[in-house]
Amino acid sequence: MKLLLIGPQGCGKGTQAKLLSEKLGIPHISTGDLLRNATGNLRRDIDSYIVAGNLYPDEKMLGLLRRRLDEPDCRKGYILDGFPRNLKQAEMLDRITKVDKAVEIHISDDEAVRRLSGRVACVDCKTGFNYATMPPKTYGVCDACGGKLVQREDDKEDAIRKRLEIYHRDTEPVLRHYNATRVDGSGSVEVVNKEIMQNLNK
Ligand SMILES: [Zn+2]
Repeated sequence: MKLLLIGPQGCGKGTQAKLLSEKLGIPHISTGDLLRNATGNLRRDIDSYIVAGNLYPDEKMLGLLRRRLDEPDCRKGYILDGFPRNLKQAEMLDRITKVDKAVEIHISDDEAVRRLSGRVACVDCKTGFNYATMPPKTYGVCDACGGKLVQREDDKEDAIRKRLEIYHRDTEPVLRHYNATRVDGSGSVEVVNKEIMQNLNK
């Protein structure tokens, strides 16, 4: 099973990918993790783009992905998350692998905003909380150390809505390209997982 998981930030894609990886016995390949965990020369190459505020070029990302998909643990399949984000990347991906199924974990923009704009972290010990899903005992105060909880600029509503706009513009063509199945991502982790599994078995 070569599976693409697609969905906006906040849809629970990472959690679902981990669960599916355990249930299906195939690796979860997150391009974000590939970039974050790179070492040595590759690390330096990636940093030369990221530190300057640029994106890692598509052709290089594809090379990195191809090497990862060639590893033995991918022989039975994989769950790919984070790539492709637009139609051009989808066409590139099709040159190196044939995706069996694409699943979209759908949540409304308002739900994405609710989940993401609730994120705060302690200024002192950096512990994270989320008013929507994992609230601190006292509003604005860190459970662990009593420090002040603050929101990152990136998690303010305007910034989230801007990212969602880009997601819709760039990723909806990818959903059509792969004729993706839409799963409702608004339920609990277990409910969403069950629905994905049912769709995979169809
Ligand atoms: Zn704290």
